[in-house]
Amino acid sequence: MPDRYRCVLIFGAPGVGKGTQGKLLGSVPGFLHVATGDLFRGLDVASEEGRVFREYSSRGELVPDEFTLRLWRRHMRALIEHGRYNPVRQMLILDGIPRSAAQAQAMAGDIDVLQILHLVAVDEEVLLRRMQRRAEREGRHDDADERVIRNRWSVYNLETLPVLEHYGRDRRVEIDAVGSPGRVLLHVLSAVVPVHERCFGNALEG
Ligand code: AMP
Repeated sequence: MPDRYRCVLIFGAPGVGKGTQGKLLGSVPGFLHVATGDLFRGLDVASEEGRVFREYSSRGELVPDEFTLRLWRRHMRALIEHGRYNPVRQMLILDGIPRSAAQAQAMAGDIDVLQILHLVAVDEEVLLRRMQRRAEREGRHDDADERVIRNRWSVYNLETLPVLEHYGRDRRVEIDAVGSPGRVLLHVLSAVVPVHERCFGNALEG
């Protein structure tokens, strides 16, 4: 059993398509997609944890690190206990965490970062329209309001981009996130599959 979860991190500004790519990749045998945003949105809104999430996310802010890490670690343990994650055989696709330098430092003992996928889209107006359509479709309160979206982007630039610096350039692949999901997926797969094969072999064998 590896001492840390072997993973790929997906980075990119809110709206760039991390969730879409993470889910697509997670449907391939040998990969498991875990998104902290989904984890938080799955909390009971009437619970104390759900209330804390809503308080921060409705302003476009990050939830406090300690709270986030506690929830994420609990979720990872549950996935293993319920047989939904096998760290020996599956590459973890982490989407939305670590999202601050403090989280990256705190997670050094939890994760072995094999690769970083940085999804890049320069045109903010394209992202804005995408997010507003998603807000209507999924009823996401944090994407309905343009001011909250713009705040999410500045939080990303201020708090999350330094995480890329934390890990350095070596393991990082920049991916053009503009284009059809299938086109972006082609780029994602061509980056990740060689790393997956090197570290996990053929997940369908054995
Ligand atoms: P997302 O779906 O990844 O855009 O996340 C939605 C919201 O969940 C964010 O705006 C934050 O409020 C919260 N969130 C998700 N992941 C984290 C994290 N790693 N640290 C702190 N807050 C997070």
